Amino acid sequence: TIEPAELMSQLPTQFFATLVANVNRQIAQGHDVINLGQGNPDQPTPAHIVDSLKEAAGQPQFHKYSPFTGFSFLKEAIATRYKADYNVDLDPETEVAILFGGKTGLVQLPQVLLNPGDVCLVPDPGYPDYWSGVALARAEMKFMPLTAQNGFLPDYDAITPADRDKAKLMFLNYPNNPTSATAPLSFYEDTVAFAAKHGIVVASDFAYGAIGFDGSRPVSFLQAEGAKEVGVEFYTLSKTYNMAGWRVGFALGNAKIISLINALQDHIYVSLFGGIQAAAATALTSSQQCVEDLVSRYQSRRDAFYDALADIGWQADKPKGSFFCWLPVPKGYTSVSFADLLLEEAKVAVAPGVGFGTHGEGYVRIGLLSDEQRLREAVHRIRALNLF
Ligand code: PLP
Repeated sequence: TIEPAELMSQLPTQFFATLVANVNRQIAQGHDVINLGQGNPDQPTPAHIVDSLKEAAGQPQFHKYSPFTGFSFLKEAIATRYKADYNVDLDPETEVAILFGGKTGLVQLPQVLLNPGDVCLVPDPGYPDYWSGVALARAEMKFMPLTAQNGFLPDYDAITPADRDKAKLMFLNYPNNPTSATAPLSFYEDTVAFAAKHGIVVASDFAYGAIGFDGSRPVSFLQAEGAKEVGVEFYTLSKTYNMAGWRVGFALGNAKIISLINALQDHIYVSLFGGIQAAAATALTSSQQCVEDLVSRYQSRRDAFYDALADIGWQADKPKGSFFCWLPVPKGYTSVSFADLLLEEAKVAVAPGVGFGTHGEGYVRIGLLSDEQRLREAVHRIRALNLF
């Protein structure tokens, strides 16, 4: 018999596997499900990026193993992008690591920084892959509640001195999945001061960094003075350029942490395919019109969706960033019972908030990842349930 290692049972349950299975069952029964539960961009990668890969695929220099920390041209491309977009200076060779998507780095970071029993501060609700990384490091999680009253920002004063003193790492994520909240620069300045005082490394997950609405560009953690001394930021091409399947991400910032991430990666894999690195560099260095178009598409969808919600009396604040909507469930339902009802009765799939942590209870997350007509249709179907 094959006996799995104990670690396998310590990994968190993949909550969203259940959601996907439920949706697939409905589809198999012939239902037209409007799936707003997942975070997978529905639009294709812009053509000039795809063309760049096609061209690069024919170049023999990319058929060999890539340099293990990736090609310098890609590190330079992301550093130049950060300078242009955030006025942040990064040394491409020492302050940039190339990752197989942001997820890989987010999961590896606890392994390079934490010993068993060390504490990692994690937002609740939050992106579940932080839990996986902490479990793989055999470290301990302490949750920082994100509540509407605090604008879904953690309250550092509410962290107990015992947790604060044991904490070595903290995850932050703005624009936020799942709440869609954004963070002001002053929050990051406070974060740098808090982290420096208590010796905590900050991991800023900036997966939705390009997606800010109403003309506001989200703030990067690295814009706060002293940020590079205390942490790193994770950036990804998945959402900015509809490249989720390509698996390209970066860790940016503190050189010591970047070298640790690179050192661990060297034990696990060689850098990603050179042709993909070339196309990723094309994405970052060519016109950013495609990003502007992507943001205005999500903004139009948001507006259409919230107009429809207002029509049925479902009150919620409009997102300022990301492509998620964080909607309160009606009285008498839990996030799971409400999500089940919407799937069973309206054939609309949403993600129950509790899947992101206990403080996600009372909400569902909806992704603006279908066109306006489908989003309106989803609300139309929900209206028929007479819940609001
Ligand atoms: N961080 C957050 C908050 C996300 O929502 C996602 C993807 O959904 C990721 C990171 C990972 O992105 P990727 O691994 O595709 O770069």
